Amino acid sequence: MSDRVDRLRRLLEEPLLVTGPHNVRWLTGFQSSNAALLVDDEHVQLYADFRYAEAAKQVEGVEFVETKRALLSDLADRLQGTVGFEAEHVSYVQYETLRGGGLELVPRHGLVETLRAVKEPGEIELIRRAVHAADHAFEALLREPFAGRSEREVSWRLRELMHANGAHEVSFETIVASGPNGALPHARPTDRLIGRDELVVIDFGCIVDGYCSDCTRTVATGRLSDELRHAYDVCLAAQRAAIDGVQAGMTGVEADRIARDAIAEAGFGEAFGHGLGHGLGLEVHEAPTLSTLSSDTLAPGNVVTIEPGIYLAGRGGVRIEDLCVVGEDGVEVLTTLGKELLEVE
Ligand code: ZN
Ligand code: ZN
Repeated sequence: MSDRVDRLRRLLEEPLLVTGPHNVRWLTGFQSSNAALLVDDEHVQLYADFRYAEAAKQVEGVEFVETKRALLSDLADRLQGTVGFEAEHVSYVQYETLRGGGLELVPRHGLVETLRAVKEPGEIELIRRAVHAADHAFEALLREPFAGRSEREVSWRLRELMHANGAHEVSFETIVASGPNGALPHARPTDRLIGRDELVVIDFGCIVDGYCSDCTRTVATGRLSDELRHAYDVCLAAQRAAIDGVQAGMTGVEADRIARDAIAEAGFGEAFGHGLGHGLGLEVHEAPTLSTLSSDTLAPGNVVTIEPGIYLAGRGGVRIEDLCVVGEDGVEVLTTLGKELLEVE
């Protein structure tokens, strides 16, 4: 833990008030919806109210300070001088509360997130466990019929199977999007009954010991139109090209372009309307971002998804998503599921 705090200290120009719950957790292991950390050159103070006091006292390497339940107004009275704050994790009302105590507040952006983007081996192991739980669950799901069941039912079933395979939680609501619903990249499962001869996009992930997984597979419930079959082949080729091409040192824009060019060359350029991927760890969306708008550069130890998609309004969609660890010379794919188009019942 202290190593994480030390790495953060090297980035600081003034004491930093950490209020993002995942950032507090990553730095200390302490989980609470109402806690803050103040990190300066010498000390780490952990603030939480009485409900969390017993747990907070067990945290090593910090000085625990019990606050009132109104944590930020308590801190406004308690803290002095110049303090950095996490601009992404402080609302305007909270900012006003802190400022009311006379603090000199400096907005800081993504300091802990930058550190979290490079995973330690132990973190990658936890992500791998989440991936395996999800993969085994999906393999079990493939042995069941799809056609005739509702998207909602299959979504719930996959959630059960992930739990049965060791998941502690889902990392987001499992997406099952069949037929035309597959053309919506962030479709939510509906009562639509899955039909024959269509594509079904299944996007799923789970959490083990706080760390997330994220995977998408697209399966067919019979014979596809030539257009959908072609879209699948193009998406898979683009996904494989990105897996082969992504490496440390590349920008998020360059990584994204590998798949985007492949899809555009096949005539589906307009149909890939989201970024290639995203980092993942304690949260299912973290730095770095792989997209046309990314300002990130990939580094060894980043864990990212590679998930191109092709969405054809009214007909269906394809997305294929693997989770990868970025290395100097390429990526290691954590996902173990096959990617050839599978025909399910
Ligand atoms: Zn996903
Ligand atoms: Zn994803």
